[in-house]
Amino acid sequence: MSVRLPASRAEALAMLADHPDAVPMAGGTDLLVHWPAQVERHEREYVDLSGVGDLRSHRWTDDALVLGALTTYWDVIRDPRVAIEFPLLVAAAREVGAVQIQARGTWAGNIANASPAADGVPALMAYDAVVVLESRTGIDEVPLDRFYTGYKQMRRRPDQLVTAIRVPRAARDVQVFEKVGTRRAQAIAKVGLAVTRGVAGWRVVASSVAPTVRRCPAIERLLVEGAPIGAPGDLLPALDRDVTPIDDVRSTAEYRRLTLARVMHYALRDHWGRA
Ligand SMILES: Cc1cc2nc3c(=O)[nH]c(=O)nc-3n(C[C@H](O)[C@H](O)[C@H](O)COP(=O)(O)OP(=O)(O)OC[C@H]3O[C@@H](n4cnc5c(N)ncnc54)[C@H](O)[C@@H]3O)c2cc1C
Repeated sequence: MSVRLPASRAEALAMLADHPDAVPMAGGTDLLVHWPAQVERHEREYVDLSGVGDLRSHRWTDDALVLGALTTYWDVIRDPRVAIEFPLLVAAAREVGAVQIQARGTWAGNIANASPAADGVPALMAYDAVVVLESRTGIDEVPLDRFYTGYKQMRRRPDQLVTAIRVPRAARDVQVFEKVGTRRAQAIAKVGLAVTRGVAGWRVVASSVAPTVRRCPAIERLLVEGAPIGAPGDLLPALDRDVTPIDDVRSTAEYRRLTLARVMHYALRDHWGRA
């Protein structure tokens, strides 16, 4: 195993530009969990970002909360302003693994790992977060809801780092985060849901029910139109347009489909039929 230890952002970007197969490493909680089983990964070259001080902190600007590439779940939990302005980020952070993982795992790692069952991604997507990608040749910004192109596929080139995640500050009168797992801690989502309503409209985001975390435009339309929804089953025609759950070790596709309908119906019980 070869590990490079850049001391600055410029050095990290140069290493990725010069070594296109190199793998960025932040907290390592996704990368290293597969270590014992996937020995071929031992031969890869890693760029350990932990020494790059200016990627670490999060900061507030007039119009956004900006999470640095090394901002952890615990950093967000500890900042009381986040609970006030972005409660779903705190709710999601508290659902990730347990406290040890919350202290090491980063939001950028959660995005770049691209798991359909991620907990941080749905909360960020419901807040219209933007992924800031940097390479030696420049900066690109991609809205998170357009970042993924398929299972584990994303709009990030190998020479790019996620250097920040910009979360726009805005008034939102509905904010919901739900995770269905086997237990309260150390459980990957069988189904996840994050919902907001702000000036830009409804954002309904589901996890663990498609190849990527994704928005549910057909459900958002039902909310905008004030469609009468009397029971969870009334959501299924729209839900079947938005998501494509699969059977796997954690759950069956049908369980996921019916559970998401139930969770959604209950979580938004005051809003169905009220355009
Ligand atoms: C016991 C356990 C429990 C867990 N529970 C949960 C859970 O409940 N919910 C959940 O969502 N996740 C969970 N995870 C997964 C993991 O902790 C999170 O996805 C975490 O956010 C990953 O962040 P990291 O910094 O550790 O990423 P790393 O492991 O360092 O990297 C993950 C991926 O992102 C890439 N990467 C990292 N940083 C960057 C960057 N700045 N730019 C570009 N690419 C980058 C890496 O190359 C790698 O592909 C769990 C993991 C473990 C081991």
